[in-house]
Amino acid sequence: MVSTHILQVALPVPLPNFFDYLVPSGIPDVAEGTRVLVPFGNKKLVGVVVGKTSQSEVPAGRLLAVSEVLDGGEPLLDEKLIELLRWCWMYYKHAPGDVIASALPPVLRKAKGKLPGPPLHYYLTAAGRERLEQPPGRARVQFEMLSALAAGPQSGAMLSGIGSQWRKTRSTLIDQGWVESEPMPPARPQISPGPDLIPEQQAAVDSMLARHGKFTCYLLDGVTGSGKTEVYMHLLEKVLAEGRQALVLVPEIGLTPQLLRRFRNRLGLEPAVIHSGLSAGERLEAWAAARSGRAALLVGTRSALFTPMPRLGIIVLDEEHDASFKQQDGFRYSARDIAVKRAAELNIPVVLGSATPSLESLSNAASGRYSWHRLRERATNAPLPAWRVLDMRQQATVNGLSATALEAIGKTLDRGEQAMVFLNRRGYAPVLMCQQCGWNGSCERCDAHLTWHRSMGRLCCHHCGARRRAPELCPECRADALMGAGEGTQQLEESLEKRFPGFQVLRFDRDRTRGKGVMGQQLEQVRKGEPCLLVGTQMLAKGHHFPGVTLVVIVNIDQALYSADYRALERMGQMIQQVAGRAGRMEKAGTVILQTLHPEHPALELLLSQGYEAYARWLLEERQLAGLPPAGYQALLRAEAHDRSQAEYFLNDAARVFPPGETRVYGPMPAIMERIGGRSRMYLVVQGANRSALHRQVDIWLPGLRKLPSARKVRWAIDIDPQEL
Ligand code: ADP
Ligand code: ZN
Ligand code: ZN
Repeated sequence: MVSTHILQVALPVPLPNFFDYLVPSGIPDVAEGTRVLVPFGNKKLVGVVVGKTSQSEVPAGRLLAVSEVLDGGEPLLDEKLIELLRWCWMYYKHAPGDVIASALPPVLRKAKGKLPGPPLHYYLTAAGRERLEQPPGRARVQFEMLSALAAGPQSGAMLSGIGSQWRKTRSTLIDQGWVESEPMPPARPQISPGPDLIPEQQAAVDSMLARHGKFTCYLLDGVTGSGKTEVYMHLLEKVLAEGRQALVLVPEIGLTPQLLRRFRNRLGLEPAVIHSGLSAGERLEAWAAARSGRAALLVGTRSALFTPMPRLGIIVLDEEHDASFKQQDGFRYSARDIAVKRAAELNIPVVLGSATPSLESLSNAASGRYSWHRLRERATNAPLPAWRVLDMRQQATVNGLSATALEAIGKTLDRGEQAMVFLNRRGYAPVLMCQQCGWNGSCERCDAHLTWHRSMGRLCCHHCGARRRAPELCPECRADALMGAGEGTQQLEESLEKRFPGFQVLRFDRDRTRGKGVMGQQLEQVRKGEPCLLVGTQMLAKGHHFPGVTLVVIVNIDQALYSADYRALERMGQMIQQVAGRAGRMEKAGTVILQTLHPEHPALELLLSQGYEAYARWLLEERQLAGLPPAGYQALLRAEAHDRSQAEYFLNDAARVFPPGETRVYGPMPAIMERIGGRSRMYLVVQGANRSALHRQVDIWLPGLRKLPSARKVRWAIDIDPQEL
């Protein structure tokens, strides 16, 4: 028999390979998925066994043995999960150690970290019952604890109120043989019925349950308030009733106490929760509960995707279009794409839900790869909001707000209702725009608008790389009215406070809500329903329901209309639709005012007259013509350096050695947010019509890049299926 006694170990080092070690002597075998401590240079590192082999490239005499097998040799990651992670590092071309680490809670990435056992509960033995028959005597507290247990088993937490030394008391009772412990049996879900489904919901549920138990990717494409969550509940009920586990993924900002309360109330269980705001200990507990199968429902953000779940029966990914599902540094994976992959490998259903699906998912639905379910009616009969486009060329403005918008805000507040002012600030390229005539520069060689790089005083084309000096006066109307598009939330807050004294102005942006509890307090304030003003960024577009808000003003959408980022129009459509969906959800209809210098822009007209689906179809056609994703495939080679020319050198070298084939490279060009933290960021675009050709060429390309002398002066990384330029 050939023994496969060489272990392939993934280690937390930024290298594209794993490392070979011998099984330590005296141990018959080490299973895949087991944590091990290994010598590496003059350190010891925690790694995970990801494979076995009988041959190594390391000469036999120089192979080292594993120093210690951790967790008593119990594999923490199961075979299926290792297989998925293996696929991830091949596909995203990222260091295996990093990829594997993303499946472990931070505590377990260290050798000291221990897998917590199941929570115990305590019960009375026969001897304990006998003791209770006797008078308490002097051991009053002991007797009290015994009496508490007479009613039935209790968890540690339930005993903790009994006496100041309850742990010691408990030990004494156990030593006496009066009390014993055992792992707590998992709580059984207690399903409460939800509302009767409306026909569209019912049709979706019926069709999904008809194919239950097999892999299908569903796109649940339902307007805000159409009752998507209710549809998820029905599927979760089914899976939980079968004794299987469910994984629900939500965007960073979508994991709200309201959502958890809904799961708790409907399904009658406490969801395990994983997100980045937890303490290391909380995270470990939730992870261990999911891994052991104790937790029937795990709700989490992106990183929860890789949690081992032995009886996983369904994955739901809500707000699937949300950018936070793509990790933007390090291991740049798409949680949405991997969720579909994981479901396929486990042969279980996966549901992608959104009111504004991504073009990727819509094109998969249109081609029949995904099963497409539309919900076009609101479950509560709340009317959809009315739109109003304001031509800003004819308006006087105060800090970006038109007289008309200010008037509408005033009336809303006077009626005792709430208004929201939404600033679309993040993720778009800055453009230089004339406030007088609406001019903004376009490239002479491309059908593209120029991006304003303020620090360089230049306008750049992100398609061909053309650059020119930023003008002082408007080249069209000669007015001294050029301004970078975009206003600050803080400025807006101040001017609204002045304008509407006596009404509270609540600002929601990253700066304001950084303080602990601020977000919750402000939301509570809004929920009270008194007239007030909400001012904020993207944060307001997601997750929350503001039933008292009847007016939404979107300050400026023009950057999106002329952005160098080809995804900007898609995001704009999603954003407008999502923001509007926050408002007037019950009996009161909402109004949405869009301020723009380009009211006749065809994209805007299409979106407002025919809705998101028609708009998305048009965007897809545009992408098809340009060969852009999802009609084509992309990777970015990103590089950054303090000195921009070094990034440029490296990328030029890299472009020169790109292997021949049908995939092409374009660039280098500066990133849209070019300077961050004093570093210049640039990229090459790798683009082609064939996914496997792209991967083949990139796989040949990467090892050579590591050897380029210019690579040493920059930080670089490959980004597969990039979401941001
Ligand atoms: P979505 O997730 O699509 O935005 P939700 O599931 O949150 O929608 O539903 C919106 C509101 O409508 C919630 O208050 C929910 O309780 C309610 N709702 C959902 N389905 C129904 C139904 N069939 N009948 C009555 N109310 C419903
Ligand atoms: Zn002008
Ligand atoms: Zn150009």
